[in-house]
Amino acid sequence: MICKEVEIEFVTPAIVSTRVSDRGYVAPSSYIAATTVRGALLSSLLYHGYVDEELVAKEAERPSVIASPAYPLSGEGKRALPATLLHIRCKVCKEVRIPQDFRITAEGIEGAETLCRNGHPAVESPHPKPVYLSGEKGMEDANVSCESPINVGMSRYRASAAGKMLYIYEAISPKSRFWFRVVSLEDVEVPSQQTLWLGRGITRGFGEARMRVRSEISFEGLAERMRDASREGRELLFYSLSPIARVDGDKYCGYPSRVDLYRLSAKRRGGELRIRNIYGRPIDVSLGWSITREREGERPNLFSVAPMGSLVVASPHETSPEDLAMLFLAGTVEDVLGSPITGLNMLGPAELALGENL
Ligand SMILES: [Zn+2]
Repeated sequence: MICKEVEIEFVTPAIVSTRVSDRGYVAPSSYIAATTVRGALLSSLLYHGYVDEELVAKEAERPSVIASPAYPLSGEGKRALPATLLHIRCKVCKEVRIPQDFRITAEGIEGAETLCRNGHPAVESPHPKPVYLSGEKGMEDANVSCESPINVGMSRYRASAAGKMLYIYEAISPKSRFWFRVVSLEDVEVPSQQTLWLGRGITRGFGEARMRVRSEISFEGLAERMRDASREGRELLFYSLSPIARVDGDKYCGYPSRVDLYRLSAKRRGGELRIRNIYGRPIDVSLGWSITREREGERPNLFSVAPMGSLVVASPHETSPEDLAMLFLAGTVEDVLGSPITGLNMLGPAELALGENL
């Protein structure tokens, strides 16, 4: 198994939008969805000859190359993570509170603050937007720099601007950087450097990015660190790097009461994570296209699901440290309308998951 942390830097503007208006794509996303990252990675591996069409077709049925969502990476190489509900900032004195030690009680999470240290109740929480959690200020918004090229449709006959054809794209600026994790279960090679194309309009030159491996992650080392967390029935605070949902065909639940570990991407023993509470503001998630069936209309959305940055009180049952390590790195594979979808339920113990590095 190969586990790597990867960074990408855009070379051209990238259209990774959250909304489509009648004039074009607007509201660029502050992160790149896991399905988009995985699709781009597989396309690039195919383009560069690391995999063949057959393998890509197999990936659509049984995913073995799994990517996390991509979050911003600062100029100094700091990784942004989705903020939790407990990361707050005072609107008056700008003081930041970052929960240092969470404790779980029967009532919920102890240590959750609703006032700033100076007693102001006017606090804002960036949750679930990505933030940088280190540095002098303790927490900084991970803003993605954007630009809005305006495109004019040209008339083929008059060789000048065509009427009513004005398109606006809000695009992520070149030089913007993001990081993500990739797991390759069957040792499909992930080269140390490669070109990727992400988002829309790639045939017109948008979304070209250079990818570079930042570090290798030791799966065995990670599993070892999960030993304590995997103690039978022990309630623990988990943090989710991805949206949370349990999906079965055309039904789904965005605040599930358990995560089945038999749904892990690798063949593992199973067990489950029983969930008592999920703390996160609901979001809508677009799951992107299937790699092999890339047709309009096959783009399922999940509405009101627990977001990335959710805190989850849960206890493991009949599960192993290896299973929890796999859940953290690759999440589960859910069945969406008969197709396997990755990039959901990437849960890890909060203390570990919110730390700097693996
Ligand atoms: Zn204050």
